Amino acid sequence: MTALLDVRGLSKSFGGVEAVRDVSFALAAGELLALIGPNGAGKSTCFGMLGGQVRPDAGRVRLAGADITGLKPRRIWARGVGRTFQTAETFASMTVAENVETALHGRTAARSAETRRLLGLVGLAAAAGRPAGTLSYGDVKRLELALALSNTPRLLLMDEPTAGMAAAERTALMQLVAGLARERQVGVLFTEHDMDVVFAHADRILVLDRGLLIAEGPPEAIRADPQVRAVYLGE
Ligand code: ADP
Ligand code: MG
Repeated sequence: MTALLDVRGLSKSFGGVEAVRDVSFALAAGELLALIGPNGAGKSTCFGMLGGQVRPDAGRVRLAGADITGLKPRRIWARGVGRTFQTAETFASMTVAENVETALHGRTAARSAETRRLLGLVGLAAAAGRPAGTLSYGDVKRLELALALSNTPRLLLMDEPTAGMAAAERTALMQLVAGLARERQVGVLFTEHDMDVVFAHADRILVLDRGLLIAEGPPEAIRADPQVRAVYLGE
């Protein structure tokens, strides 16, 4: 079977820093795959190369068999890849609803109904009329998820989607994302600092250390991996 996302030999250097070195992995439809690693491991650079914001030096990215390596972000988005960023990207002066309507600009009909549906899905229905700049940090992350979902993506890339959220909010957001994966067969790649969240929700985990993939497997295997414990969990 063709993987939803197939990454082979992805590499990127910034000056002398090898941020990502020869990284290969695959992601199936409906799978929640976590990419973890210490600060500076290369996680955001990987996300950038998958979303088109960062041009790889080497390697290939295939989406459902089609080569999307080095395509512009809007081209990758048009192929059904939604993404959220480590630093939220929303329009602070527009209302929450206007942000979503803007993301839906390619659609001519039923935009307001679709906006309501998306805001309901992420738990922001009551905040629809508020300027996005007045939202709490956690609610901005929810809005970002609504924007990423406006495309009805088959692949969702989420760089620290729950950063700055309280524990209960993190769990709620991850349950929402897990539901999308299970019910709509969306493939999800996410990073997350809270290991409890990772171990509770990920089907499989990739561990990056200084640009290298050092481990890959289900949560139980990663939790027990001595190399992972040494470099990442600080043991
Ligand atoms: P992570 O998201 O895992 O914290 P990053 O991908 O942000 O890691 O960074 C990996 C390495 O690449 C770090 O050493 C970082 O300083 C460097 N890096 C990332 N982006 C850039 C950039 N645009 N210019 C220069 N160095 C960068
Ligand atoms: Mg990062």
